[in-house]
Amino acid sequence: MKDSSFREGDAKTAIFGSNAMLHPAPVDVIPDGPTTPEIAYQMVKDETYAQTQPRLNLATFVTTWMDDYATKLMNEAININYIDETEYPRIAVMNAKCINIMANLWNSPEQAQWKAGALAIGSSEACMLGGVAAWLRWREKRLAQGKPVDKPNFVISAGFQVVWEKFAQLWQIEMRQVPLTQEHITLDPQDALNMCDENTICIVPIQGVTWTGLNDDVEALDAALDAYNAKTGYDIPIHVDAASGGFILPFLKPEVKWDFRLKWVLSISTSGHKYGLVYPGLGWVVWKDKKYLPGSMSFSVNYLGANITQVGLNFSRPAAQILGQYYQFIRLGFQGYKEVQQNSLAIADYLHAEIAKFAPFQNYSKEVVNPLFIWYLKPEYAKTAKWTLYDLQDKLKQSGWMVPAYTLPDNLENWVVMRIVVRQGFSRDMADQLLGDISNAIADLEKLEYPTPTRIAQDKQQPVKGSVFTHTGSPKSTK
Ligand SMILES: *Cc1c(COP(=O)(O)O)cnc(C)c1O
Repeated sequence: MKDSSFREGDAKTAIFGSNAMLHPAPVDVIPDGPTTPEIAYQMVKDETYAQTQPRLNLATFVTTWMDDYATKLMNEAININYIDETEYPRIAVMNAKCINIMANLWNSPEQAQWKAGALAIGSSEACMLGGVAAWLRWREKRLAQGKPVDKPNFVISAGFQVVWEKFAQLWQIEMRQVPLTQEHITLDPQDALNMCDENTICIVPIQGVTWTGLNDDVEALDAALDAYNAKTGYDIPIHVDAASGGFILPFLKPEVKWDFRLKWVLSISTSGHKYGLVYPGLGWVVWKDKKYLPGSMSFSVNYLGANITQVGLNFSRPAAQILGQYYQFIRLGFQGYKEVQQNSLAIADYLHAEIAKFAPFQNYSKEVVNPLFIWYLKPEYAKTAKWTLYDLQDKLKQSGWMVPAYTLPDNLENWVVMRIVVRQGFSRDMADQLLGDISNAIADLEKLEYPTPTRIAQDKQQPVKGSVFTHTGSPKSTK
């Protein structure tokens, strides 16, 4: 007998017996009517079903594992908007406590109880805020001197992350790039100073260069800049982009001076969602002292039930990440962070040593300074190989790994490299599984009778400067 209350797609219908599963998911137009939550859930879930497991993604720097309590806390806070400070005043306080903790990890000299800093969606927003503050301070000073302010610039190595290109474009501030070369694989202080002038708003060294995993020498830069500023009468400051390094150096290399201990470092940005060990999106920027955060960057609104002052590009933003960050600080403490970062570094070190044992491979740098490194095909091997690292990337993808191959920035763009980023959630045993898969992949690739399409494409290109690494067919994936 027909059930008179039956409607297609209602809760009585098996998900995979429903009409909805016979139709494509909407692409252009919102569906006419509702469906059940079970069906909607299944369709959305299944669209991402075939993707790689986040923890096998060795391309990303961003957190892919947190413990169950952190996950629970963050899920429970998913409906909280950070900006509603009047409704959730404790979250604003918790945010300020996180900024204090980071300022102190970076050796802030500020005496005030609440340090000057801001919450951000990631390092991108944090870098923008640091950059804008430097620009506004420079403007203010120039205007007071009656000097023109129409040609600001900043100086950074060619190993910059794409956010700095956005900063340059969106605020129309000229980006002056210090080339990276085989001799200078990080920012060369003297080369950087040679690019400075009265219109330079800041120099931006990087701790944990996205392309190579290396650190610019901020202490050497600061010393050279101090002499330069004394000689020229300028007061060009440093903003440190410590997206990765900001949460590595304080724990693993506390003796290295790269932070507020240095005279000209006035602001530092980092990604809470990278080695800060919190799920995305979370970033932080801290200024050495309140006086370096221009008042014109703070905006007040009065319609939330009180007068709220905030610094940031976004207005509404999730609060859950603040709870996640504060939880990690309490849960791990200094010692816990040190152990987690130490393990990541030790596993990166292990992989680095094992990668060097494969006949085709050569590591880019001898040392692993952050838990990530790059390698390339030995020139003599690459000359006769029928495959490239892009083929290896494809092979590893079949086992679920994402290990990106890409070309280095300008000047080194002939170098095709491969990168591994080790994060919390990647164990020694997983490293061994990966090495096994790399070994099998190489064995397969070496059996090839004919060169692969990427290898053929490479041969068709003009060899530049005698290099055999030429390949520009792939986007510069750095994330
Ligand atoms: C990741 C990264 C950024 C951008 O950070 P998001 O947190 O992804 O916005 C900026 N600079 C460097 C050096 C990075 O590694």
